[in-house]
Amino acid sequence: MQIITMRPHEERRVKEGHLWVNKSDLSHTLEVAPGTLVRVSTSDGASLGTGFYNPLSKIAVRLLACEEEDAGTDFFVKRIRQAQELRERVLPNEEGYRVVYGEADLLSGLIVDRYGSYLVIQMLSAGMDVRKPHIIEALRIVFPSVLGIIEKNTSQTRTREGLELVDGVVWGSVPDRVTFTENGLRLEIDIATGQKTGYFLDQKINRKAVALLAKGRTMLDCFCNVGGFALNAAAQGASLAHGIDSSALAVEAAQRNAEINGLTHCTFEKANVFDLLRDHVSQERTWDIVVLDPPSFAKHRGALRGALAGYAELNRTALKLLQPGGILVTSSCTQPVTEHDLMDIVYRESARVRRRLRLIHRGAQAPDHPVLLAMTETQYLKFLVFEVIA
Ligand code: SAH
Repeated sequence: MQIITMRPHEERRVKEGHLWVNKSDLSHTLEVAPGTLVRVSTSDGASLGTGFYNPLSKIAVRLLACEEEDAGTDFFVKRIRQAQELRERVLPNEEGYRVVYGEADLLSGLIVDRYGSYLVIQMLSAGMDVRKPHIIEALRIVFPSVLGIIEKNTSQTRTREGLELVDGVVWGSVPDRVTFTENGLRLEIDIATGQKTGYFLDQKINRKAVALLAKGRTMLDCFCNVGGFALNAAAQGASLAHGIDSSALAVEAAQRNAEINGLTHCTFEKANVFDLLRDHVSQERTWDIVVLDPPSFAKHRGALRGALAGYAELNRTALKLLQPGGILVTSSCTQPVTEHDLMDIVYRESARVRRRLRLIHRGAQAPDHPVLLAMTETQYLKFLVFEVIA
């Protein structure tokens, strides 16, 4: 196996458990095909483990956290089985969950989501992409009852690895619409046209927590996608749950999900949340609960300022729709925004609009999205619930 050596002063992060070796941290490059398994060594010759090398990517090596020599089907069976065992313990009896969350499952660049009898895979690195046949074979071994596997390799991050965007069924058959249950609800999603792998699994536990607060209350679910928060709230006895999303496809799917579950007091509307919140303020409308679950506002630290301004506006406007006793559910999936940043924004904006808040719940990404401590990149979801007390 070819060896690639790190520069003397760049090794600490990797020694402490980070799985990415940046191109700029290497003392030389190798002329090998993207995805080739290489051994990474310190400047004085000690091995830092093996990993997938991609000369085209800024993340030159993605380490496997072991001395793997082959990285074939057996390797993937072992790692995917370990990942599945964790999910069985933390989210028993779930039909929709993330089986493999990349780095946090020591499979950098691989995502596998399960929706009942179907698996959705995403390869975000060349090392994973070239091993697609092994990954599919391993998934069939670990999940013998699965009926179909679909790849949704349409994330723009693939272009940074020199990979094309592709999607489609890679094994078995997968229907256009797939159903699964979440917190007792029957959800129907369209994997091919839906966002991400079809559903935002990371908010599963948070939806449950908020639904418990919704009995007898009205909820405005902003950025609802296929209806997650609104449907859960309506099922738990909300008097009215209304979801807003700018995607027509998402709103149609949300409406179908309300029908499937017989939730007539759960409605959806296609709109831009920023505009709609302003309209509701000028119409002096009020809601008992406002949920804010916007998409990521910044992919890197350079865009942080703009992201913080976006959160400030959203939270300020939402607070204006709440009276004492009302609840603000606010979330951020922007990785560089910390929980402290979000808390600070809500504090400042609440002072501006004269609402006194108390924090009654805080959450994070569900445990099928574990956090690898050595890689802050794996921690992204912040989730805060405030009650307006005066
Ligand atoms: N709350 C959802 C997940 C939200 S993901 C759940 O529980 O599953 C973010 C959503 O915001 C996406 O569905 C996207 O279509 C939508 N979106 C992005 N910008 C928007 C905007 N300005 N107004 C309304 N929706 C928007």
